[in-house]
Amino acid sequence: MRVLFASSEIFPYAKSGGLADVADALPHAIKEFVEVSRVMPLYSFIQRDTLKKEMQYSIELSGIEYRCVIYSKEEYGVVTYFIKAPLLSSTKNMYGDGDGGYANNDLRFAVFCKAIVELCKKLDIEIVHLNDWHTALVALYIKDKKLNIKTLFTIHNLAYQGIFGFESLRRIGVSERYFTMDALEFYGGVNYLKAAIAYSDAITTVSPSYAKEILTQEFGAALDGFLKVHKNKLIGILNGINTDIFNPKTDKNIFCSFDKNSLENKYKNKVQFIKNSTLKDPRRPLFVMISRLVEQKGVDMLLISLKQLLEKKINLFVLGDGDEQISSEFLKLSKLYDNFEFFRGYDEGLSHKVYASGDFLLMPSRFEPCGLNQMISMSYATIPLVHSVGGLRDSVYEDNKGCGRGIVFEKFSKREFLNAVDRALKLKKDKERFDEVRVSNLGCDFSFTKSALKYLEIYKKLLA
Ligand code: ADP
Repeated sequence: MRVLFASSEIFPYAKSGGLADVADALPHAIKEFVEVSRVMPLYSFIQRDTLKKEMQYSIELSGIEYRCVIYSKEEYGVVTYFIKAPLLSSTKNMYGDGDGGYANNDLRFAVFCKAIVELCKKLDIEIVHLNDWHTALVALYIKDKKLNIKTLFTIHNLAYQGIFGFESLRRIGVSERYFTMDALEFYGGVNYLKAAIAYSDAITTVSPSYAKEILTQEFGAALDGFLKVHKNKLIGILNGINTDIFNPKTDKNIFCSFDKNSLENKYKNKVQFIKNSTLKDPRRPLFVMISRLVEQKGVDMLLISLKQLLEKKINLFVLGDGDEQISSEFLKLSKLYDNFEFFRGYDEGLSHKVYASGDFLLMPSRFEPCGLNQMISMSYATIPLVHSVGGLRDSVYEDNKGCGRGIVFEKFSKREFLNAVDRALKLKKDKERFDEVRVSNLGCDFSFTKSALKYLEIYKKLLA
């Protein structure tokens, strides 16, 4: 079975969030069972000196020819292909500068998709596993040309759909016969995600709860009705993490390694972390947040609760980047309170230190397709405090019902959130129970192995 896993980002080459982590971890778990390779764009910031030039070919969109050069690199038994193509590879960032996406993203990712289809043909691929809207047009191109390649599409976050104006259709060379409600048309514009929902052979999303939620108006991002039409090919499979990278026993980024038999060493991380920060007194409970600063993550609720939260004699450290206004609010407040530090930016190494040093990780997400932070934090014995939604509902339990323990609040409100913080503080005071929860989390398996078997089942069905 030959599978090509296509993603617009793969860790460690390019990462803006969880998609890159999954594109790293899942193929490595799946390679035990099938022949899997990966494909992503060759962005301008990716180091090229260790890449091998593999092949070149041209693709055509709307009468314009695009010359693609394909590079490759093998790591840990998985080959990654990098597509260098005009427009796709020439931008400074992956998706855009500042808050907005690049104006030609419609074309950039159509080029990516066409080039993926060509690569599938060259590599004699049987299944192409697509991820999020950047790869969605592959499903349409394959159906349109009646190619004998099966498609599985994974929705990592329904909020991002790749919506463009009607004129994009012409730019990307897609026939107007696809401009219908049961295909790409979306309120007068073009919606790439709809192409994948309509034309993929199977669809997964990243947790069983989110698979149910996206069929409702509340979480369906205006596609609930459309998804309902295709719900027979939709299932939810919980993500896992790369337990070789997120491992406090071997992690070189953290101050002091630890595992469940040396939990006392976790405190050394906290002491050093506080010393390096503007915070004081490591004996205080340390709440941390590592997040894209967007409404989805509940950062606005954290903001309106911040004053009351900081009066509770805790320390709070937020690492994040995103919304300009939220960032400047955090910055302003961090200057007012000496028990709150905000680090604006994206910093992989620092994030590991934060995971290793925290007592509690805040994740009051409005919605959360799966979420990886809670699994990473549990792997570092930092207890997650989460809103019970999507993948958080499927991976964190306050009542000790499953593997993965934390503090869980049901209703998305400031009151429930602050009550949850109080329960966390109570837990912290009860040292025996606090340690028991942390040790139990350190013993959980958050790897992708179990879920990889579920993907394997789908692959087998597609080829049956
Ligand atoms: P998302 O919705 O952003 O994909 P996930 O929980 O699925 O959320 O994955 C987030 C990933 O990005 C995790 O690996 C997390 O540690 C990382 N991350 C998020 N924000 C930052 C940041 N500012 N600096 C470093 N890593 C970050």
